[in-house]
Amino acid sequence: MIYLDNAATTKPCDEAVEAAVKMMKENFGNPSSLHRAGLDAQLEMDRARKIIADSLGAESSNIIFTSGATESSNLALRGAAAAYGRRKKRIVASAVEHASVDETLTALEKSGFEVVRISPGAGGKFEPADFISACNEDTFLVTMMLVNNETGHILPVKETFSAVKRRFPDIITHSDCVQAYMKISFRASQLNADLISLSGHKIHAVKGAGALYIKKGIRLLPIVTGGKQEKGIRSGTESTPLIAAFGAAVEKYSGDISQRWERAAELKKYLTEKLAEIPEVTINSPEDGSPYIINISQPKRSEIMLHYLEGSGIYVSSGSACSKGQQSGVPAQFGITGKAADGALRISLSSETTESELDEFASALKNGIEKVRG
Ligand code: PLP
Repeated sequence: MIYLDNAATTKPCDEAVEAAVKMMKENFGNPSSLHRAGLDAQLEMDRARKIIADSLGAESSNIIFTSGATESSNLALRGAAAAYGRRKKRIVASAVEHASVDETLTALEKSGFEVVRISPGAGGKFEPADFISACNEDTFLVTMMLVNNETGHILPVKETFSAVKRRFPDIITHSDCVQAYMKISFRASQLNADLISLSGHKIHAVKGAGALYIKKGIRLLPIVTGGKQEKGIRSGTESTPLIAAFGAAVEKYSGDISQRWERAAELKKYLTEKLAEIPEVTINSPEDGSPYIINISQPKRSEIMLHYLEGSGIYVSSGSACSKGQQSGVPAQFGITGKAADGALRISLSSETTESELDEFASALKNGIEKVRG
């Protein structure tokens, strides 16, 4: 198998798997229980919480565990709307957010909030000034992802949030950092983000665990109520095996973020040169985007080419993998429309991808363009 769909999910690393198995076999207590078994589970969960907090330059008390980034963003947006939305009704967002944010915004719109979606300008670039112009005294939240999951564009979160905070200090800022975490070094305070959504399974941990960073002083009302776990913000027994796996992956990958970025950049350059030899292929991702995500267009329908490549054991994605083949509006925001959108493929790398895997992909793609009908 040549797995080039790392933006959809990643292979869990051995450290994550071992941490999860150890929790299930040896440390399976409920972290809320008052006895020793509960305490042991809680200590391990606290260790993971500290590792994740440290990676953001934050305190353990800033981290709430969730089932994944979808839940983190739902909690961030719905929780903030419930806490702050009685008097203020406007939310400003980028128009290229993942469905976990965008669909949540649509739901909030249906319940009476006003959502202003800001599109990028030429070259897919966002202007912080556009966000400032869209904010007013009625605005309580601005949300902007750090790396786009479909194209790899890096959004100017730090510049935008800093400008927003200067002009409107009370506005809360949220960033979906799923595709940036453990790939770009950032601190919560550098981004000027009050809320940050993270996912375990995108960083070689296990599906089913995510986190929400909440800056001290930001109030969120819970969207899941019950036993008041996670400081009452997210009730429900924590998944200690998956949380331990999340912590183990962050521990493994937080030390060499820039070296892995360099390696991914080499791989992106290598693939770009290979694809330049196929005249029918165009690269949609920007040169200065995340090297982990490369969006290309080729002349066959995405799904047809995807399945052709699958026949050679090569896995890529068409559009956003989360949408199960449904075309999202995001590529169009970045100027990928018409035939280019119909034939768009997303190749997403890990630092363990090899040049020979990329050779095989490029040669299978070339064959597919020649052989596949339609
Ligand atoms: N945000 C982005 C940018 C993503 O790419 C994804 C998954 O594709 C998510 C959020 C959702 O994450 P999860 O699967 O942890 O709910």
